[in-house]
Amino acid sequence: MSFRDYAPAPESTAILNLRPHYGLYIDGQWTEGGGGSITSISPATEKSIAEISMADSSDIDRAVLAARKSYDTVWSRMSGAERGKYLYRIARLIQERAREFAVAETLDNGKPIRETRDIDIPLVAAWFFHYAGWADKLDYAGLGPNPSALGVAGQIIPWNFPLLMLAWKVAPALAAGNTVVLKPAETTPLTALMFADICQQAGLPAGVVNIVPGHGGVAGTALVEHAGVNKIAFTGSTAVGRNIARTLAGTETRVTLELGGKGANIVFDDAAVDEAVEGIIAGIFFNQGHVCCAGSRLLVQENIQDEVVEKLTRRLATLRLGDPLDKNTDIGAVNSKAQLARITAIAETGEAEGATRWTLDCEIPSKGFWFRPTIFTNVTTSNTVARDEIFGPVLSVLSFRTPDEAIIKANNTPYGLSAGIWTQNASRMLRVADSLRAGVVWANTFNQFDPTSPFGGYKESGYGREGGRHGLAAYLANGGAR
Ligand code: NAD
Repeated sequence: MSFRDYAPAPESTAILNLRPHYGLYIDGQWTEGGGGSITSISPATEKSIAEISMADSSDIDRAVLAARKSYDTVWSRMSGAERGKYLYRIARLIQERAREFAVAETLDNGKPIRETRDIDIPLVAAWFFHYAGWADKLDYAGLGPNPSALGVAGQIIPWNFPLLMLAWKVAPALAAGNTVVLKPAETTPLTALMFADICQQAGLPAGVVNIVPGHGGVAGTALVEHAGVNKIAFTGSTAVGRNIARTLAGTETRVTLELGGKGANIVFDDAAVDEAVEGIIAGIFFNQGHVCCAGSRLLVQENIQDEVVEKLTRRLATLRLGDPLDKNTDIGAVNSKAQLARITAIAETGEAEGATRWTLDCEIPSKGFWFRPTIFTNVTTSNTVARDEIFGPVLSVLSFRTPDEAIIKANNTPYGLSAGIWTQNASRMLRVADSLRAGVVWANTFNQFDPTSPFGGYKESGYGREGGRHGLAAYLANGGAR
């Protein structure tokens, strides 16, 4: 008998009451899309979850018209306090159904239930509570006189934090008085569709939130190009973000883009090494590394490099990879076959370019998409694994001798989303943080999120900020953010 025999049973998907088929949610009604349908599968088992109807451009048109009508006739006429009440209601309903949402997200995305239960879903509720509180206080947000909504917000989100990315976008948009058309990612539509039920349960007026699953090149493009959309908020790859910026250049549609990253976790030799090791692991192995702000580059001071890497590999050997619904699982499945192929290809390139590869010695299930935690050492700044966003559980280790060298190496990337610094020396912490071109810099921690804190990128990581009052500004006509 092993200690696992005493572990609680895995979460059951029976609590979900899954429907065999999901339509689009437009104007407060479930409706069928003209873009065919896809079968959503669990990446951990490859078993089918449900059939999902896909939107085509005429469905996007219907959704935008519904959002416009509800904006003109209902939502823009409501007081902030009334809008806030709906947001509070949504937040409470998410709390009530938190377990269901956690199981659904784990099933659809492949990430461990411990993460969805303790991080994703609680943060979703926190985001709605936070912005519910803003809805009647826009005048005090310091964002200019008579803040007014933009109108219809088109929102396109990725698959790595499906419901959380929805919350980051929907909550501030509604609080500021906009209506929404949201397109979830192809591989993770489930929790967005369950969120449509929450909107109905909360009594949200029809058309205020419309959820339209669809293919990026069809529904996503149609949403971006729709003349009735006043603002596009996009999170995803830099390539698609660039296309969106190009399409909307010179138009009146506002854009915010939250794109890729190649975050540096910088560990100085005076750091609390054991804590840093935990932070490095959280930085790159949380959510299988499917995190735009992941600390995918470890920059470690040369004299402690061996100690840190040794401790890292020892600690990783204690992590459990497997069934994401098992409460003891630390590392879940990669989200899709395509993403697994991308990660595999980049890791092979890293090896071919001469970096030394270490892979966690662990079993992987026979079905599903799995990638063992991997660390590259002997990495130079020109190696692909040090440059490209991998978006998987792959850490590249580089060393430095001085703080200046650490700063130069950390900034040596086209991205600028995140960084972490580990040192006990407060003045060094401040000086290094100030020199990094990164939207967020964590001090002696990593991957902490809070609805009051702005989040966003420099350089090719995009522009605009989400979170706090900065996140509101992105949805207000005179908020100053483009
Ligand atoms: P993607 O950019 O293709 O997809 C993100 C979202 O954009 C999805 O909803 C998708 O349907 C939509 N989309 C795709 N093409 C579109 C288009 N032409 N117009 C409008 N919308 C479109 O990302 P992906 O292919 O799922 O992942 C590829 C890479 O992107 C990953 O390896 C990773 O590097 C990066 N990524 C980053 C984030 C992030 O949070 N910054 C999230 C997911 C993926």
